Amino acid sequence: MSTLRDIGESGFIDRIVALLSASPEVIEGPGDDCAVLRVGDRTLLVTCDLSMENVHFRRGAAAPEDLGWKAAAAGLSDIAAMGGVPQFLLTSVAAPAETDADELEGICRGVVDVAQHCGAVVVGGDVTRSTGGIVLDVMVIGEAPEGRFRLRSGAKPGDMLAVTGWPGRSAAGFEAEERGIDAPTLVRAHYRPEPRIREGRWLCARDDVHAMIDVSDGVVQDAGHLAERSGLGVAMTSASVAADPELAALCAETGRSIQDYVFTGGEAYELAFAIDPATCGKALAAFREEFGLPVVILGEFSDAFNGVLIDGEAPTERGYEHF
Ligand SMILES: [Mg+2]
Repeated sequence: MSTLRDIGESGFIDRIVALLSASPEVIEGPGDDCAVLRVGDRTLLVTCDLSMENVHFRRGAAAPEDLGWKAAAAGLSDIAAMGGVPQFLLTSVAAPAETDADELEGICRGVVDVAQHCGAVVVGGDVTRSTGGIVLDVMVIGEAPEGRFRLRSGAKPGDMLAVTGWPGRSAAGFEAEERGIDAPTLVRAHYRPEPRIREGRWLCARDDVHAMIDVSDGVVQDAGHLAERSGLGVAMTSASVAADPELAALCAETGRSIQDYVFTGGEAYELAFAIDPATCGKALAAFREEFGLPVVILGEFSDAFNGVLIDGEAPTERGYEHF
């Protein structure tokens, strides 16, 4: 017998994918941020995300609304990663019978709030009893307008790897809270991540953006997914990581480097994308102008090797592994 710990998340997914059958209406099946489906002349994007008490969140540390926001933001961010527009959410919750109804309502209110924040609505779900902790599953349905979307697999050799915003802040916020360090901006990044919907749409509209993913498991792991799905490697440079005064202040207290948080910190929900080197300078300047948000080049894709290199070496820490 092999356990999930033995085969890991990807080993288990491989076994399930082998059970699935193809359909002409499925443009992209498992393996990207969303499934891409043809429905009439529309292109739908569908994703779901599971949040489990004591695995993804702990009660008590944050407001119930924050837990709901964060759980639903993960799925909304997957729609952003494809360049799509989120429209509908379905939310299922399982909770022990003794659960405070106000607390559970608060969690669901957080889901409703982030949906509304992103221009989408909650249209249903399910409630059931849990024998363990609270479990929250959020499904998001969106659309790729004009059938235009970005996959992970489109990166070309020589493309630059760019990352939006403030990767690393969410993981740093989690650590700040654990250690009782006062860092409200970082803690907010952890509990109230902003799905980059408008940014994803903007990037997807450009022909020089070839592939995209959202950073849920750390830049190393997610850039690695872009490279792997594109049949390439990606070489990153640690010196390219943007200065971040908020992160720097925390690093002074924890003794870790900004690079640690940026490269391996999960739940950032920033966008990582592959962009043509010929136009990326102008494109990134236009992005900063449009959104008032940083975007930095962290590396370059290559067909000379596979996997991820940082400063020429294979990284030792890979980011989040579910089992
Ligand atoms: Mg994703």
